[in-house]
Amino acid sequence: MLELKDYRTKVHNDWCPGCGDFGILNAIQMALSELKLEPRNVAIVSGVGCSAKTPHFVNTYGFHTLHGRSLPIATGIRLANTGLTVVAVGGDGDGYGIGAGHFLNTGRRNLDFTYVVHNNQVYGLTKGQASPTLPKGVRTKSMPSPAIIEGINPLATAISAGYTFVARSYALDVRHLKETLKAAILHKGSALVDTLQTCPTYNDINTKEWYAGADLASKAPRLYKLEETGYDGNVKDPNDPTEVNQKKAQAITRSFEWGEKIPIGVFYRIEEPTYEEMIAQRMPSYKEVPLVKQDLYKRDVTPLFEALV
Ligand code: SF4
Ligand code: MG
Repeated sequence: MLELKDYRTKVHNDWCPGCGDFGILNAIQMALSELKLEPRNVAIVSGVGCSAKTPHFVNTYGFHTLHGRSLPIATGIRLANTGLTVVAVGGDGDGYGIGAGHFLNTGRRNLDFTYVVHNNQVYGLTKGQASPTLPKGVRTKSMPSPAIIEGINPLATAISAGYTFVARSYALDVRHLKETLKAAILHKGSALVDTLQTCPTYNDINTKEWYAGADLASKAPRLYKLEETGYDGNVKDPNDPTEVNQKKAQAITRSFEWGEKIPIGVFYRIEEPTYEEMIAQRMPSYKEVPLVKQDLYKRDVTPLFEALV
């Protein structure tokens, strides 16, 4: 019987005290535990950054790769072994900056995997430079002057790119994040969970107190849950382009709400054929036996060469 402790490692964790990454790590371990996914059937892949250390702390297969390159590696792992649950993790700089091309093109494929982005609006590991999600005009304590270019909207970008599950959660609401991660992992297709994450060392703007609305006259929390407002991002009929476009437009519009109120929850979800299913249609043996179990050395490639003559 697996317990939460079975998903933890003894590797020393050097994240700063109070870092939101701890909440995300706990939520990942709790989600895997509650889904009863055996550690040997899970692979966690990361790029480079503070958050990219996550695979060291979760007792599953792990791959700490290169900057911005977690998604091609995650794609390779998933395609080679469809028996694995694949979770990619990384920061906003890693995923939406240097890895932006992979972010877009992985979404287009609808590979069955989950991408958890620790979004703290800065490059924490390299001393807090503005990341692609820092809004124009904002200046954190590590910057000499405010950002002069506009930040990107990861949720709207993901919906446009083709991700079939697009959600936002908050690192310090571990229960909400855990439930969102469980839904993302259970979703058949590419799932993005953009996770607002406090970086107390370099981001003194988007702090725990800021998300709690301490600076507002109302003192009301900025974050609110879409699911508590009657919002429904689920596409009922994927073959109805009118409904699909309406749900996408609704999600994109809502994803731009950023100020005194910030929504979290599932913005958009649709069931569509996965990349693996489409490959299996062209290559029946892929469906029967995952690549990792096929004997590549005994394959007869003569028909392939004959087709190319
Ligand atoms: Fe966390 Fe920021 Fe410290 Fe990195 S620099 S460990 S993101 S608090
Ligand atoms: Mg970051």
